[in-house]
Amino acid sequence: MFLNELNYPINRIKGIGNQTGKDLINLGISNIKKLLTHYPVRYEDRKTVQPIKYGIKNGFVNTTATVIEHSYIGFGSKKTLKVIVTDNTGYLSLICFGRNFLEKKLSKGKKVYLYTSNLQYKFSELQTSSFEIEEVSEKPPKDFGYLLPIYRLSGRLTQHNLRKYIKQAISLYCSDLTNELPEDIRIKYNLLNKQDSINLIHFPPDKQSMLSAKETLVYEELFHLQMVSGRKMLKQNTIKREARDLPEKLQNRLIDKLPFQLTTDQLLALKDITTDLNSTRKMNRLIQGDVGSGKTLIALLAALPIIEAGGQVALMAPTELLAKQHSEKAYELLHSIGVKTAFISGNLKNSKRTLLLTQLQQGNVDLIIGTHALFTQDVVYKNLELVIVDEQHRFGVKQRLSLAEKGNAPDMLLMTATPIPRTLTMTLFGDLDVSTIKTMPLGRKKIDTHLVRVGNEYKVYDFIFNELTEGRQCYFVYPLIEQSEKLQLKDAQSMYEQLQNVFKGYQLGLIHSKIDEELKEATMEKFSNGSIDILVATSVVEVGVDVPNATIMVIEHAERFGLSALHQLRGRVGRGKLQSYCFLSYSNVLTEEGKKRLLTMKEVSDGFEISRQDLKLRGPGDIAGIKQSGFMELSIASLTNDFNTLLKARNDVIKLLENDPGLLDSLNSNLRELYQISPPFNDDFISQG
Ligand code: ADP
Ligand code: MG
Repeated sequence: MFLNELNYPINRIKGIGNQTGKDLINLGISNIKKLLTHYPVRYEDRKTVQPIKYGIKNGFVNTTATVIEHSYIGFGSKKTLKVIVTDNTGYLSLICFGRNFLEKKLSKGKKVYLYTSNLQYKFSELQTSSFEIEEVSEKPPKDFGYLLPIYRLSGRLTQHNLRKYIKQAISLYCSDLTNELPEDIRIKYNLLNKQDSINLIHFPPDKQSMLSAKETLVYEELFHLQMVSGRKMLKQNTIKREARDLPEKLQNRLIDKLPFQLTTDQLLALKDITTDLNSTRKMNRLIQGDVGSGKTLIALLAALPIIEAGGQVALMAPTELLAKQHSEKAYELLHSIGVKTAFISGNLKNSKRTLLLTQLQQGNVDLIIGTHALFTQDVVYKNLELVIVDEQHRFGVKQRLSLAEKGNAPDMLLMTATPIPRTLTMTLFGDLDVSTIKTMPLGRKKIDTHLVRVGNEYKVYDFIFNELTEGRQCYFVYPLIEQSEKLQLKDAQSMYEQLQNVFKGYQLGLIHSKIDEELKEATMEKFSNGSIDILVATSVVEVGVDVPNATIMVIEHAERFGLSALHQLRGRVGRGKLQSYCFLSYSNVLTEEGKKRLLTMKEVSDGFEISRQDLKLRGPGDIAGIKQSGFMELSIASLTNDFNTLLKARNDVIKLLENDPGLLDSLNSNLRELYQISPPFNDDFISQG
């Protein structure tokens, strides 16, 4: 039987009633399997003898001691028993607060096992008031002589009871657990069998066996995690094609036309892509680079060889606004070199949509740009060969996978301004090559970032007036669309009205997600061509919006935004040669985290560093666009700490799947069965972000 099959109710364990059941549920322990995989968070070493003499130095005592004397301290109801014990290396006073009943149990001459990690010198003697003891008798000790597991608890649960339940579960259900690793791999790494690993992770007689149990379980978990992505990857990789030599005339023409030189990193990224596109294996590449580093341009350049050779390319952006903007940019750059681009909007009405879809199907469109609307059922491509996903961290994993299924498994180019730790890319994507654009285009100036306490906005307004007079443009960003009863915050709608009074004579526009798509686009267009001076918005302008003449970004209630959102928003300015400014206005009520984020923003401009900080503050799940809950449900392995094991597991999985993709080999029969009966991870265990 597989561990996963032990989904029996926990009240099968003696002693677990309603209250305990609830406490266990609070810990996520809903069945026997969950109980068995509620692994200890640490162990207390009750095996190694730590004599009283070295108690202070070691921080704890674990010894066998004899009672030599009793006395009482304090008077009346405060009278407290003091028991002096010795293990022949030193003396220790046990102060028995509220435990005067121990007088009988600890009669003079009695031998006890003793553990304490709470020692102090007081009144010139070594004391402890929190200790555990067990009488020495013929029977083996219960809580001494091995590593004592310490668990996460909740409610009225005690370590003692939880240990009892787990012990029972092990003896009732673990005697014939099936191994979940191929035998040859288990032998290669000297790993334990399933039954021993569960038993020893909870009740290890010594450190060595605890470590082997842990090693086994960590490897096993990462192995199965890699099986999920490995199988995905295998699907991708089996599709081989002829090596080819794509034409580069169009690409070179565009490069020659650009009013600037590509940066070194842009050129390197482009070279990586070209190599991929010409190779026999489908491309699966991520370009990561800070906001404004010129990724979008690289994506457009990358599309040209495919188009020149007669293929179609789709560029997917996370919002209509951004898609629209990309399509305008694409038209501007590509129309004159004969590339046919199109924008597919979610709002496109019947006949127009039909027309566009026909054009697409007949191959009269080379490059189509849109949101995930690009991959709805009725969109049919003539020969889709390359899919580009901009700001890929904005998309759920499922969306990404669904699009890889259009066409004949097209090459994939993903772009992100939020670097993803390698551990995650490997786990989420199976295999992903990465190019990084570090250098910024020449002449970019660092954005001058200021923190502004609420109430001091007028100083900022003065400053903005000056810039507006110079012909510059400005964003104001708010956390809310409209006034909220619950939250006393400024909102985009009201501030749009208010700011019109402040900036008389200037044109203001308003953008947020509730505004009609066409109006949004019209407003954006006006901001782009300079007929609107001030754009009041919510974080809809967070991604990709590119108006180089805008030099000021004001974010109000900045403490309410996450770090990467703030960085993205700030990235809307400083997109040209002009010096740009970012004002982060904050309320008086600041959480510690909020304060940290704002200070980080003030001090750090490098997006990679900001990502690192963000990772520290939020944990890795959020970053990759995946909710913590679904993805991080690893019970023992850690993607960061067990990186080397992850690499090992990954290589083993790749080898295994290459040799035996269907898991038909008799060596892998337990794996095959496991995946049929109760796969450790669901294929879509990665919940959508
Ligand atoms: P990203 O997608 O990485 O945020 P974009 O591709 O939108 O960046 O580029 C930001 C701006 O910089 C655009 O206006 C683009 O035309 C411009 N740009 C791109 N590459 C260069 C370069 N090498 N030199 C100068 N400007 C560039
Ligand atoms: Mg971009």
